[in-house]
Amino acid sequence: MLQRVTVHTGAKCEFIDITSALARVVAESGIKEGVLFATVPHTTAGITLNENADPAVRADIEKTLSRLVPDLADYAHAEGNSAAHVKASLVGSSVIVLISEGKLALGRWQGVYLCEFDGPRTREVLVRVAGLK
Ligand code: ZN
Repeated sequence: MLQRVTVHTGAKCEFIDITSALARVVAESGIKEGVLFATVPHTTAGITLNENADPAVRADIEKTLSRLVPDLADYAHAEGNSAAHVKASLVGSSVIVLISEGKLALGRWQGVYLCEFDGPRTREVLVRVAGLK
């Protein structure tokens, strides 16, 4: 069954750790060996896997994306949020995490982040888990 994780973002650009929410979906599913697929149905937000130990890594990623994709440039999109659209495409809109022994099989330092690029907004992450109980 499709699950939805709702995330309220609080800033224009923000990486929010949703690992524990995804772990909860896995626990409630009862799946022991399988796969979790998470996708963001938005065009100005993304989802990615990266370090969850040192918050400076997140800050560096946000800063680097903003340097690569400035808010103001020769964009054609009239809505004024082209930078957010470009950043969302750069980080991507889905992640796959394997499930092993009923848990997310993430690396020791890995977390899953919803990447807000045009907040604050209420975002949804669509999650499906499949496998063996
Ligand atoms: Zn737009």
